[in-house]
Amino acid sequence: MADSRPGRWLKLGRYAANDAAMPVQTKRGCSFGCIYCCYPLLEGREWRLREPEWVAAQMREAALAGMRGVEFVDSVFNFPADHTVECMEVIAKTQSRWSRPWLSTFEGNPVATSPELIDAMNAAKFSAVGVTAESGSEAMLDALGKGFTTDHLSRAREDLRRLRARKIWVFMLGGPGETEATIRETASFLKSLPRGDVAQVTYEVRVLPRTELRRRLVEEKEVAEGDELVDPTFYWSPRVMGLRGRCVAFPWDMSIISLSRASLGERL
Ligand code: SF4
Repeated sequence: MADSRPGRWLKLGRYAANDAAMPVQTKRGCSFGCIYCCYPLLEGREWRLREPEWVAAQMREAALAGMRGVEFVDSVFNFPADHTVECMEVIAKTQSRWSRPWLSTFEGNPVATSPELIDAMNAAKFSAVGVTAESGSEAMLDALGKGFTTDHLSRAREDLRRLRARKIWVFMLGGPGETEATIRETASFLKSLPRGDVAQVTYEVRVLPRTELRRRLVEEKEVAEGDELVDPTFYWSPRVMGLRGRCVAFPWDMSIISLSRASLGERL
């Protein structure tokens, strides 16, 4: 029987008309502690996991609504890893029953790639994945509170070679403690990526309310106590002040490198 809830079908219809992917969350929450990020503040720090069957049902619904793609918009797509593998396995088992939308995500975390995850994503026929590496420098990963190391990055790079999907690596320059040396470490990691992988490098870090980054900047009197950061405010490490805008000149030997500002706005 047709679903008579107008909001639901109007929403699906809009996505279909735009030929866009339907966003699906397999979970809510994030237990990581990246100093600049508001996800744990918005969704909570505890993982709340959807049943894999529910996730597969969303794909079926997207396909029946005529959508060509599903994008997983979890805070972190592949963590907790067991749950992600289970979701991919159920999708792989059930997707032959409908015309398959393409699958993608932009939130692959290097902390939890594994051969099992890659097998499950290949079976579910993933088409694209983003890996939020942020930096190739051990010191910067630590300073940003990423919860993984350059060893995780190297392992993810090797695991992902077997993934039959397009890969985009995401980096962010200019966080607290960034120096010319740490930028060069990131450049060196970029050069080690397999040919055909794509990297997107943004520079400057958006300062968001209630984050650890904001707390520190208030302590250092860089941000006023009462400033609720309604106007976009960005951080750029004073230790590389002279490099601002010059990073585009690094001779990274990648097939495509896209450099973009996080967005325009007032900067510190
Ligand atoms: S950047 Fe990603 S992993 Fe880090 S706190 Fe935000 S959502 Fe979690």
